[in-house]
Amino acid sequence: MIEMHDVWKRYPNGVEALRGIDVKIEQGEFVYVVGPSGAGKSTFIKLMYREEKPSSGVILINGVNVKRVRDWKIPYLRRNIGVVFQDYKLLPNMTAYENVAFAMEAIEAPRRQIRRRVEEVLELVGLEDRMHALPSQLSGGEQQRVSIARAIVNNPSFLIADEPTGNLDPETSWDIMYLLQEINNRGTTIVMATHNKEIVNTMRQRVIAIEQGVIVRDELQGEYGYED
Ligand code: ADP
Ligand code: ADP
Repeated sequence: MIEMHDVWKRYPNGVEALRGIDVKIEQGEFVYVVGPSGAGKSTFIKLMYREEKPSSGVILINGVNVKRVRDWKIPYLRRNIGVVFQDYKLLPNMTAYENVAFAMEAIEAPRRQIRRRVEEVLELVGLEDRMHALPSQLSGGEQQRVSIARAIVNNPSFLIADEPTGNLDPETSWDIMYLLQEINNRGTTIVMATHNKEIVNTMRQRVIAIEQGVIVRDELQGEYGYED
């Protein structure tokens, strides 16, 4: 479970990106985060995977107060949270296989486990035939599949995605959504910031809308609610 209690985020330049966020996301939920550009969606998501720290307020991840976690423990906290970005962020000189294996090596998983698990997740995302390709040899949709495989290889409780379909055409975006839905069906909580109106309005899952740093709407079978 992810809980935020009266969370504020003020950047060093004085911008108040989040102003009093209260939210609870239960294990197994699929949540869309929507809102205009600059509303605070990315900041909200970065607080969850500890890329940014709150200026005030309390964030609990599975009951653990992330502010109290010492920095050396952050990798262990992050192991429980996979992250997927709009621009994939794959390491360009590593193959698909190596990009995914790297995430397991980073937590010092036993060598014999790595090979079996990496092949298993690459199969789950439908890339078993492309695992020795470099990112530059893969399409955008395939690169996003590698990044999703990397995000789930350590079996995290949470998958956090910031505009995962932002660089993909509509058909490829839907393929990625079916994959995320499948991962959610297997029990992983998904929180996804998006501008994709069609996806949000078709899937009809929980929608949290943020405007000017405040949650203005939180609906269980929500809609996108904006024109863009
Ligand atoms: P969104 O994802 O909804 O577009 P962001 O969370 O990226 O919104 O940004 C919210 C506000 O915080 C914006 O005004 C943005 O310019 C500002 N902001 C975001 N990141 C930083 C940063 N690292 N330093 C200063 N201001 C930032
Ligand atoms: P830092 O040096 O800030 O502690 P890390 O070295 O842990 O960060 O992470 C480096 C980059 O990888 C950061 O940009 C971060 O956003 C990204 N990252 C961190 N954790 C994950 C994760 N679980 N999945 C994908 N990317 C991650």
